[in-house]
Amino acid sequence: MTGRRIEGAELLAVGAELLVGDTQDTNSGEIARELTSLGVEVMRISALPDRLEVVSGALLDALEHADLVMTTGGLGPTPDDLTREAIAAACGEMVAVDPDLERWVEALFARRGIPFSEANRKQAWLIPSANSLPNPNGTAPGWWVERPDGRIIVALPGPPREMRPMWRDHVLPRLAARGLGTDRAAETLRLTGMGESLLVDVIGEDVLRRRNPEVATYARLDAVDVRVSAVAEGGRSARQLVDDAIARLVPALGPYIFARGDEGWPNAVGRRLAGRTVAIAESGTAGQLVALLGAETWLVFDETLAPDSGEARAHPDPTELARHVRALAGTDVGLAVRATEAAGDMQVAIAITDGILDTLQERAAFLGGDQGRRRAANLACTELWRWLGDRSQPAS
Ligand code: AMP
Ligand code: MG
Repeated sequence: MTGRRIEGAELLAVGAELLVGDTQDTNSGEIARELTSLGVEVMRISALPDRLEVVSGALLDALEHADLVMTTGGLGPTPDDLTREAIAAACGEMVAVDPDLERWVEALFARRGIPFSEANRKQAWLIPSANSLPNPNGTAPGWWVERPDGRIIVALPGPPREMRPMWRDHVLPRLAARGLGTDRAAETLRLTGMGESLLVDVIGEDVLRRRNPEVATYARLDAVDVRVSAVAEGGRSARQLVDDAIARLVPALGPYIFARGDEGWPNAVGRRLAGRTVAIAESGTAGQLVALLGAETWLVFDETLAPDSGEARAHPDPTELARHVRALAGTDVGLAVRATEAAGDMQVAIAITDGILDTLQERAAFLGGDQGRRRAANLACTELWRWLGDRSQPAS
């Protein structure tokens, strides 16, 4: 048995329900996340119909380049569930009832007092190169198939509550025993105040086209992310390559970076508050700012300061409102944001005060409605974060 290292994987989600949009393929995303974090490159994710020749064709194709081919779905008892048949066809092997599995499936039914239907017998099938993977939450065991060249096919059932424990308890340990992934590293810089198109100019197209280290930009709801990833190459570790690339990006991007990795606004603002507290009043944003900052201990928020409350209307001047909520809540900082939709976009006024110095920013957020309100909340976070940055620097 060759102990082929698992460096590249393909994921096949099998089920007609995935192609008509009834069911979202969450299985592949979850598996891809874990494989990626273990340094395995996920080369392709596909959703396939319950058709024998399509699934076996996809398996053969994936086995051309992937060390691991994972399928989820199509292991049920009904004739349309034919992942087992497709794997058998791709491997050129015949399915046969495995006596041990058969006893296990029959016992399951006996235990529940349900008559055993002939259709369920296919859940006891195996092919000579397959071992079964136990399923403690259903009647469909998984398959672990070893190809002569050391490549592996793993088939798991579709329901996430059955798939997840099998993946965690039976698939991951077996994969880890073979050696998982190449030396791979990644880091994400989270930016605010710079649009994706300007970012492309600043980073440079040549850098964005390079494969290793790879630099990619993603426009998210709360930030523009710059993700730097690398694999070890030419005697340099993946980490070194990522660190070097980040060091080259930071001079140009530094002032716009508010967080790294999985962090968001609560982390970034919390860090700069450094123990201080802030009270927030928002109007025209439907509570998006509080929703974005979440239940942080430094965020003081009470009913009288509710979004679009009478207090907000009683103080139409944002600076006054910021002072008012600060005094009312007894916090170090007060922030008021007021968003007004005008000609399809949002006019956003953001006032911040620490009782000594006030600042008022008038900004425009692209689009109105829910999108505009979210962007307005993001702008308020950006202004607060910048303001806190300026305040924490010693005057020179
Ligand atoms: P199966 O009998 O193994 O084909 O799986 C049946 C059920 O699992 C489907 O009705 C879906 O609810 C769920 N399912 C199948 N594939 C997926 C997937 N890729 N992601 C999330 N749920 C899935
Ligand atoms: Mg199915």
